[in-house]
Amino acid sequence: MNRRTFMLGTALAGGLGLVGAAFGFRRIAAATSTFEIEKTEAEWRSTLTPEQFAVLRQHATEQPFASPLNDEHRKGTFACAGCDLPLYSSGTKFDSGTGWPSFYQPLPNAVGTSEDRSWFLTRTEVHCRRCGGHLGHVFDDGPAPTGLRYCMNGVALKFIAEVPASS
Ligand SMILES: [Zn+2]
Repeated sequence: MNRRTFMLGTALAGGLGLVGAAFGFRRIAAATSTFEIEKTEAEWRSTLTPEQFAVLRQHATEQPFASPLNDEHRKGTFACAGCDLPLYSSGTKFDSGTGWPSFYQPLPNAVGTSEDRSWFLTRTEVHCRRCGGHLGHVFDDGPAPTGLRYCMNGVALKFIAEVPASS
C-alpha cells in the first residue's frame, strides 16, 4: 500500500511537471512530417493517458525516477506506448543513473530523429518511426559499443516481457 501511495504521488507530481513542459514544445509537434500511423489530437487523447499524451504528442518530459521501467530488468522488448511498435531490446538497456530508462541502441528501423532547439539547447529528439510519437533524446555519452545514450521517457514505452518457450 505504501508503495502504491508513493507511486500515485509520483505520478501526480509528474503530471504537474508535464503540464508545464508541454507548452514549450508545441511548435516542434506541428513541424513533424507524415507518419504511417496518423491520428487526430482527439483520437490520440482517447487512446492515451494524459501523461502519455503530454510526452508522445506534446514533447513533454516526465520527471526523473518517475517510471517503473527504470527498474525493469527482465528480458523483453520495450515498445511504443502509442502504436506498439517494438523500439528497444532489453539487451541494450543500461543504468545511466539519470532516472530515465536508457538504451545504447534502438531496434532496426524503429526510431527517427530530428533537431530539437527548444529550451535554448540543441538536442537530438527521438521519435517513433511509425506514429511519430516523441520518445526522448539521444546523447553521445553512452556506453560501448555505440557510445550513444537513448534517454527515453518511460511513459512513452510499454514493456513486453519475453515469454519463455514452453514444453
Ligand atoms: Zn509509435
